Amino acid sequence: MKNYNRSNQLFERAQKVIPGGVNSPVRAFRSVGRAPIFIESAKAATLTDVDENTYIDFIGSWGPMILGHSPSFVDQNLLSVIQKGMSYGVPSPFEVEMAECLVDAYQGLEMVRMVNSGTEATMSAIRAARGYTRRTKIVKFEGCYHGHSDALLVKSGSGTLTYGVPTSLGVPADTVKDTLVAVYNDVTGIEQLFKSNGNEIACVILEPIAGNMGVVPVKDEFVKTLRKLCDMYGVVLIFDEVITGFRLAYGGAASLLNVTPDMVCFGKIIGGGLPVGAYGGKKEIMSVISPLGGVYQAGTLSGNPIAMYCGLEVLKTLRENPEIYTSLEEKAAYLESGMNRIIEEYQFPVTFVRYKSMPCLFFKTGSLSSYDEVKGCDTDAYATYFKAMLERGILLPPAQFEGLFLSTAHTTEDLEAYLTASEAVLKEMYLK
Ligand SMILES: *Cc1c(COP(=O)(O)O)cnc(C)c1O
Repeated sequence: MKNYNRSNQLFERAQKVIPGGVNSPVRAFRSVGRAPIFIESAKAATLTDVDENTYIDFIGSWGPMILGHSPSFVDQNLLSVIQKGMSYGVPSPFEVEMAECLVDAYQGLEMVRMVNSGTEATMSAIRAARGYTRRTKIVKFEGCYHGHSDALLVKSGSGTLTYGVPTSLGVPADTVKDTLVAVYNDVTGIEQLFKSNGNEIACVILEPIAGNMGVVPVKDEFVKTLRKLCDMYGVVLIFDEVITGFRLAYGGAASLLNVTPDMVCFGKIIGGGLPVGAYGGKKEIMSVISPLGGVYQAGTLSGNPIAMYCGLEVLKTLRENPEIYTSLEEKAAYLESGMNRIIEEYQFPVTFVRYKSMPCLFFKTGSLSSYDEVKGCDTDAYATYFKAMLERGILLPPAQFEGLFLSTAHTTEDLEAYLTASEAVLKEMYLK
């Protein structure tokens, strides 16, 4: 057994002064039934905890660390950027460069606003879409996560479709009464929803490839139908590419699906590990935002020069080295074929799903194309698997409904270690 004394001590202290001891719930490791580990340092694909245990990291800070930890831009230049001042409260050149870079990268994107998190990006995009259309209803899909703003903390109510109920205390039912909840990948469902509500809907928001109910690829017919319906009813189509943007491809999921949304949200990768988000879209829509238009949205630290510098360094690396995407996809495919070999040999009741560079191991067999289908996973089995993998030096997301995050820093040995450990752990679990 590894020694986790110092992590445990920190967790004791943390629980006294931070709710649950953590600043974001998933970090509490509750759904895998153990205390969290506290990290001392990270380099490339390796994390070292405060007890000096090392792990191969498959969380990657939930996506931002696509170049691995402490990549080459963390150098003297970064230090000199910091020494020029941490924040000005008036514009600086990096903000312009970042906006140009995003507009250049993403199809249909003409104007963009920087914010400080993915949550702010989706919240603000929805406000802009409502202001632009002067309609109030919004549509989201069960199992898609768009951050923690009130209107989006909602699940579908009882009955067939639509009116959402809050998933969090503190969110008044009135706040989510205009949030319609639909089923991901359900073409007929969304057609019906538009038929009865289409003229009142301001926007539809979705993860173009879902990454927050495990990895659930979108069906081509579904996303194309959405585009068509939004055009027909004058509804703003918003892609939440906070995970998929700059991960699946430099042009995001939109470039792979060949569907251009009216608005897009970014986060995670575009901040290089610092707190950043962005939302944007067609000029006509973005012109409703203050000071051009009547939709208010602001941020004291939005477009922070250090965050912009770090994000730009990541984006430039990705832009100048398109082979990174081929390589990430090869790594994911390597995991997929390795796991499928193991799963087939022993008939383990698990399914390895992959969309391009986004892989995920579900503890369930059968169809996995909507929230209803994935939520039948054996989360207790995932917890057992997680803990045994951690003991073997592999850090996985501490929750079943998350994908693995790969980076340029993962080596073939790292991937082999994942496969070897997975085989050993699954045998322990199922071949007793
Ligand atoms: C992480 C995430 C968010 C929220 O971003 P935060 O920076 O955590 O607020 C929104 N949408 C998606 C798809 C995400 O994965």
